[in-house]
Amino acid sequence: MADRLVLLGKNPTARKLAGNLGLSLPPTLKRDLGPWTDRPLEGVEVTVLLGPGAALAEPVARCLAEAGCSPAVGPGEIPDAFARQAQAWGRPARNASGAEAAHGIVFDATGLRTVDELRALHTLLHERVGLLERSGRVVLLSRPPGEAAEVEGQAVQRAVEGFMRSLAKELGRKGGTANQVVVPHGAEDRLPAPLRWLLSPRSAYVSGQPLHLSTTVRGHEPRWARPLDGKVALVTGAARGIGAATARALAREGAQVVVLDRPGDEAHAARVAQEVGGLPLMVDLGQPDAPATVAAFLQERFGGVDIVVHNAGVTRDKTLGRMSRELWDLTLDVNLRAVLRLHQALEPLLRSHGRIVCLSSIAGLAGNVGQTNYAASKAAVAGFVAAAAPGLGRRGVALNAVAPGFIETRMTAAIPVATREVARRLSNLSQGGLPADVAEAILFLSTPGASALSGQVLRVCGGSLVGA
Ligand code: NAD
Repeated sequence: MADRLVLLGKNPTARKLAGNLGLSLPPTLKRDLGPWTDRPLEGVEVTVLLGPGAALAEPVARCLAEAGCSPAVGPGEIPDAFARQAQAWGRPARNASGAEAAHGIVFDATGLRTVDELRALHTLLHERVGLLERSGRVVLLSRPPGEAAEVEGQAVQRAVEGFMRSLAKELGRKGGTANQVVVPHGAEDRLPAPLRWLLSPRSAYVSGQPLHLSTTVRGHEPRWARPLDGKVALVTGAARGIGAATARALAREGAQVVVLDRPGDEAHAARVAQEVGGLPLMVDLGQPDAPATVAAFLQERFGGVDIVVHNAGVTRDKTLGRMSRELWDLTLDVNLRAVLRLHQALEPLLRSHGRIVCLSSIAGLAGNVGQTNYAASKAAVAGFVAAAAPGLGRRGVALNAVAPGFIETRMTAAIPVATREVARRLSNLSQGGLPADVAEAILFLSTPGASALSGQVLRVCGGSLVGA
């Protein structure tokens, strides 16, 4: 069901008229759904601000230069790291002397330890945020608070998250986002992939989120263009919605995709499979023999699997007092039991550097009226990810979940109209996301460069008020 206000917002005359009446229309988000490239930040203005004691000049300089960007760096002298990377990649950095327009701002807050130093967030950003382009990006870099020796330092590092979440709400009006990467000691060289992604239009509907890097999963040299060449991916529930968008995104970047959906959905599944040059597989994941059938198929056709996306899911909403046992069981069987059982069956087939992404939901994080069954299943998915990630990490496999907010699909088209309208406007960006927004997050987590992320739940919710 199309969002009429978003459509209206794309029309300059309507936007002007609404402005004259003191009304605001949702911003038009800048997205990029084309293939990944080596230098996505070529010609893109990025300002790097180094707070007192900033520790990440090296990986930030490398990330930006490698991605084709000539950044403005400040305040003060440009650190040597930028000169070295500029030489290696031919991307000279310049001094960020005054406030100037930019698409992106990277703020290295890793060295902030005192309340006085925290003021740098205000001093360096307050004149600059107003000059951010539409759909602009702010990325804050911090350390895990526990790494600071003093209590004040720990509190100050924690302050960065509150700042980032509030800034994300302010930037949303112009389609902008603010996010944070928390970089522990030892994980510095893993920063480039998440930073590049957060600065890009591919993270259009991710806002107000902290990404926590780790070294749990063995690192892997990122491949920027066609990162999934030679990989085999299974996407469940891929006949439509988020699953179909994910199949398209993974195939676009080189993966051979198995498009799994239930018997009865052959026509849709076959269409998606044909579109992505993949294979349809019709299996009802609620059936006891489903995991064995899927494992046998992957073993026979491909001798293993590299990427598994547990996307199939259902809602059967009723308040608890009115919910039949059948509705409870059906929801838990598909959204949770099937994920656990399929994971068990596929674990031996997962190849090194494997990636698993599960679909949670902000309803599972925050709760929702009429969704005790659904929320229980989606919270359990987050629990599964936290529990199983460390063990898989030792094998070089990363396991994460994405938690979509309100995404425009068949599932949300079934929501009563008034609730649907409220749900859309609850995000920082005043609109629902598209299946492609979730697909781009799943794709990112499936790439070799994303090895620093495992055991996490990444919300793709536009910074929704719900689910904090
Ligand atoms: P959708 O209903 O459009 O698609 C879900 C797909 O899963 C369908 O093609 C369906 O046939 C398939 N499926 C369901 N039961 C199955 C079974 N037993 N065996 C095999 N396939 C089965 O839903 P969507 O909106 O694209 O949601 C995809 C995932 O994202 C779900 O897990 C959902 O809970 C989650 N999610 C969606 C939203 C949203 O706003 N749309 C928000 C949060 C989470």
